[in-house]
Amino acid sequence: MPAEESACRARLKVLGAEFEEVAPQRDAEGCALPFPLKLKRLTRSIDIEPDAVINCAAAEASARFAADVISSTAKAMFDEDLAAISQASAYVCRPRNGTRKLSEHAFGNALDIARFTLAKGTTIDVEPAPPEKNEKFLSSIRKAACGPFKTVLGPGSDADHALHFHLDLAPRRNGGTFCQ
Ligand SMILES: [Zn+2]
Repeated sequence: MPAEESACRARLKVLGAEFEEVAPQRDAEGCALPFPLKLKRLTRSIDIEPDAVINCAAAEASARFAADVISSTAKAMFDEDLAAISQASAYVCRPRNGTRKLSEHAFGNALDIARFTLAKGTTIDVEPAPPEKNEKFLSSIRKAACGPFKTVLGPGSDADHALHFHLDLAPRRNGGTFCQ
């Protein structure tokens, strides 16, 4: 395993993440995830459901974002800590919808988030017309994701993203971001 992968795993453990190593993913179409993790918990207090097969960089970015941003936003707006993220896809060998180019999901470099569950049971779904309080939370999270993640899509971006936030780490030209 490359040093970068081991160092990432060490940082994930410090964050309190729980994960296990799973078999490398590879496919004739070009999908590739040489050092996949099955991520079972993002931090000691934040779960991810269901478990997500993902690369370590995306796991770390997700765990940090959940701990540093989502949880504090939930606390500020709902007076509840973040308890869990429901993911809609992590590693999936497929092209981007409507194209032949592989999605970042095909490299385990992306996470789709469909729902946030807070510690006292409040749930916030990613959806096109959420209740006003949820809308504030969701737009705050979405804005803050742009930077830690290089591509951020969601409701309003296109029909494929009406019910989840798509977050990925694909490098953009000039170190930029694509947030829509
Ligand atoms: Zn996605």
